[in-house]
Amino acid sequence: MLRSLSLLTAIALGWVLARWLHPGPLWNLSAALAGAGVWLWFESRQRERLDRWLKLHAEGKPPALWGVWAEISERVFRAVRLQKRKTRNARRRLDEFLSAIQASPNGVVLLDQLGRMEWCNQAACEHLGIDPEQDARQVVRNIVRDPAFAAYLASEKYEREVQFLSPGDRSGQTHIAVQLFPYGQKRFLLLSRDITAIRRAERMRRDFVANVSHEIKTPLTVIRGFVETLQELRLDESQQQHYLALMGTQAERMNVLVSDLLTLSTLEGSPPPPANDWHHGDALIAQVLSDAKALSDVLHKGTQGVNCQASPALQVAGKSRELLSAMGNLASNAVRYTPDHGEVRMAWKRLDNGDAEFAVEDNGPGIAAAHLSRLSERFYRVDQSRSRETGGTGLGLAIVKHIAQRHGGELVIRSEVGKGSRFAIRLPARRVRWLDAADED
Ligand code: ADP
Repeated sequence: MLRSLSLLTAIALGWVLARWLHPGPLWNLSAALAGAGVWLWFESRQRERLDRWLKLHAEGKPPALWGVWAEISERVFRAVRLQKRKTRNARRRLDEFLSAIQASPNGVVLLDQLGRMEWCNQAACEHLGIDPEQDARQVVRNIVRDPAFAAYLASEKYEREVQFLSPGDRSGQTHIAVQLFPYGQKRFLLLSRDITAIRRAERMRRDFVANVSHEIKTPLTVIRGFVETLQELRLDESQQQHYLALMGTQAERMNVLVSDLLTLSTLEGSPPPPANDWHHGDALIAQVLSDAKALSDVLHKGTQGVNCQASPALQVAGKSRELLSAMGNLASNAVRYTPDHGEVRMAWKRLDNGDAEFAVEDNGPGIAAAHLSRLSERFYRVDQSRSRETGGTGLGLAIVKHIAQRHGGELVIRSEVGKGSRFAIRLPARRVRWLDAADED
């Protein structure tokens, strides 16, 4: 409508101008045609300018145009601006999404219809040994060559996962689980996760069950043997008493084992020890010392020296039952493993950084350095027979370490073969109150 009006105006203007200058019908007609020609030339110039601007992807402001062309360019400009904003937002969201996947500890690989790698995150590179540049657009079967994975791909049964050693870890210690998920148009999403810790936990659980079964089976077998002996043989009173005493020892061994296992499971399931329940260090040590002396009297007929050295006055915060159990375990180990006529000493000590240490030292056989890091593992023993002989379960130091850690501390072991050992529970300064003489009053 506007364009027709402008064309008519151009024609009318030409006609009026001709009439004014050279009146005559031929002049008028030519001038009107000239007006239409000027209009067409002007229109085509506008169209060309708009075309040029559009060819440059409508970058920047639209050119200065007139009439309908100005309106078209303005609308295109607004549409393009809106589109660009939408694209920018979509790209930002995609970037955020990709960086979230990058941050994932699980590996993610996108595969196209031919099984070629399109994109992968850092975890997938580490799990599968992918070089993102070299392996881009490579078929996944050529990138991951583990036979288990190849068989998994060939089986086309992707509802389960496949586990194998991570090709990205040359040490051969990392186990991964990989699963494929179909999506879109015959594309695949490959997910991988590190299952090393899960496998280790499973193995520890299996070992633990096997160890417990073994520890319980041994005394049970002995007791069953004695029961059969008592049932089948005609024994006199003293022989019967002898066998019953042996059975009692084995039953007691099982009892100690079960109670150590219960202690461990209670420790694992109970809340952290209180930080405001204070116990006097000398009261704790007095209790531990008297138990250790009693044990030493039984095992070493009073030939061992078991004593407490001068200690600074202090209070420690925590659970007294746990602290007594940990300290008592160290003391009873020292008594049990140190032979007759040996020395066992215990004391509290103040460390330079304000931490406190309860240490038990002995001049027993000592332990070779190779064993030290494993001593607090459950059921780890340096000398199986010596441990059993003296009523050990192999759980004592595991319990001590657990209790020390629950109190924010640690178990520190020093030992030298032939010289003796020093086992210490270190408690952090925040769980210790040092008392000078005035405070004590
Ligand atoms: P156990 O019940 O066998 O004593 P522990 O966990 O208490 O189990 O100790 C683990 C092992 O550490 C023991 O079997 C023993 O070989 C060694 N051990 C612990 N304390 C001492 C010590 N004071 N002297 C020598 N060896 C020790």
